[in-house]
Amino acid sequence: MAQIIDGKAVAAQVRAQAAQEAAELTTQGTQPGLAVVIVGDDPASRIYVNNKKKACAEVGVYSEEHALPAGTSQDALLALIRQLNQDPKIHGILVQSPLPEGLDEAGVVEAIAPEKDVDAFHAYNVGKIMQGRYHFLPCTPAGVIELIRSTGVEIAGKDCVVIGRSDIVGKPMAMLLLHQNGTVTICHSKTRNLPEICRRADILVSAVGRAGFVTGNMIKPGAVVIDVGMNRDANGKLCGDVVFEEADKLAAFLTPVPGGVGPMTIAMLMRNTVTAAKLALGLSR
Ligand code: NAP
Repeated sequence: MAQIIDGKAVAAQVRAQAAQEAAELTTQGTQPGLAVVIVGDDPASRIYVNNKKKACAEVGVYSEEHALPAGTSQDALLALIRQLNQDPKIHGILVQSPLPEGLDEAGVVEAIAPEKDVDAFHAYNVGKIMQGRYHFLPCTPAGVIELIRSTGVEIAGKDCVVIGRSDIVGKPMAMLLLHQNGTVTICHSKTRNLPEICRRADILVSAVGRAGFVTGNMIKPGAVVIDVGMNRDANGKLCGDVVFEEADKLAAFLTPVPGGVGPMTIAMLMRNTVTAAKLALGLSR
């Protein structure tokens, strides 16, 4: 049986550390502040935004929500971003994805001041991550690194396979594993012999978005298996990409869904917001 990686516990540690640093900054006169922008009424986005605001309250980060109607124009959204870029109370700006059709998400991200880009999606921050000279790491991949670290398994020298190459998960995930000196293979929908490649992985990270995608024949005995996927099964229950019962028999360490990667994403957002406040104060370089 695999050892289950407790994402809630690791996330609680990251949040506690962020809370301590937020309290110190607040005592010194600067409470870290996060602005969350939501456009339209997507129910999943509403849940994510509420969870982020709740996390801010728990960690001692000031938060403000800017809820705009679905018909908001690109110009109006950009004007809000420019205003938040100038607001000294706000150290981090997060625009909840997805934006309604007709809005240019990439253009909105590029309008965020890089030093307030706590999602680390701005091209400037993506470039810094490529170079390994970053302030912010994208929340989900950075959370995965923390989860792997919590197992005590060294990434250096290991064969790491990432399934998925999106800009927000797969690509930065591969880059972070590379920075940790893993030997990294990125797989995607055009990859040939996927099960064979995955079976070579000491560390397997799945970010596909398909329930039941990673089966036992794709897992090397003793591997660390990280399931980033968030899907609904036939009964509407939240599940990952990995067939849990099969992975459980083979992996040394395994993340559950829910309770694995999910809680880490918001915890890392709190860490990034505190880092952004330190940057604004010249306390972080
Ligand atoms: P995405 O943009 O849809 O990317 C999915 C990736 O999977 C693509 O690179 C795609 O390859 C690859 N893929 C699809 N079918 C495949 C196949 N048959 N074989 C191999 N690769 C295949 O999704 P995402 O935004 O990266 O998210 C991935 C999953 O993680 C989703 O379930 C999402 O909900 C979840 N997620 C969770 C969190 C969290 O906090 N836990 C955060 C973010 C995302 P191509 O590039 O070739 O199309």
